[in-house]
Amino acid sequence: MSDCIFCKIVNGEIPAAKVYEDENVLAFLDISQVTKGHTLIIPKVHQENMYELTPSVAEKVFAVVPKVANAIRKQFSPVGLNMLSNTGEAAGQSVFHLHLHLLPRYGHEDDFGLKWSTNIDKYTQQEMQEMAQGIANNIEN
Ligand code: AMP
Ligand code: ZN
Repeated sequence: MSDCIFCKIVNGEIPAAKVYEDENVLAFLDISQVTKGHTLIIPKVHQENMYELTPSVAEKVFAVVPKVANAIRKQFSPVGLNMLSNTGEAAGQSVFHLHLHLLPRYGHEDDFGLKWSTNIDKYTQQEMQEMAQGIANNIEN
C-alpha cells in the first residue's frame, strides 16, 4: 500500500532499526520506545489489523514472536514482557498495517501501563455460557 508507513519500511523507502527479517516478516524497534527494546513485528504483506489477518500470514508472524521475545530477554533481561496488537482507532491503532508490539517490562516504574479490571460478579455462569455460544456461532472456518 503506497501511503502506508510500514510498507515503506518493508520496501526500504524509510529507515528502521531492524531486529529480524525473513521472506515474510520484519521486526524493528518502535520509534517511541515505550520501554527499552520495544519492538514491532509485522508481516511484509499489507494486512490492516487482526480483523484482516489471514491464518497463513498469522502463522508466519506469530512464529517470529518467541525468537524476538527471547532475543530481547537475552539482551536486556527484562522482568517480563507484554505483547499487544491494537485493532481499530478506538483501541489505539494509529498505523493500519498489522503489527505486534513486544514491550519488555522493567518493574512497576516502567512507562507501560494497562488497566485490567475484573468484572467476575457481573455475569452468571449461564450468561457466560450464552456469551461464549454467541461468539462461537460466529466463528467461520
Ligand atoms: P499503534 O498505535 O498500535 O498503531 O502503533 C503504531 C506504532 O508505530 C507506534 O507505537 C509508533 O511509535 C510506531 N511507529 C510509527 N512510525 C514509525 C517508524 N517510522 N518507525 C518505527 N516505529 C514507528
Ligand atoms: Zn502497509
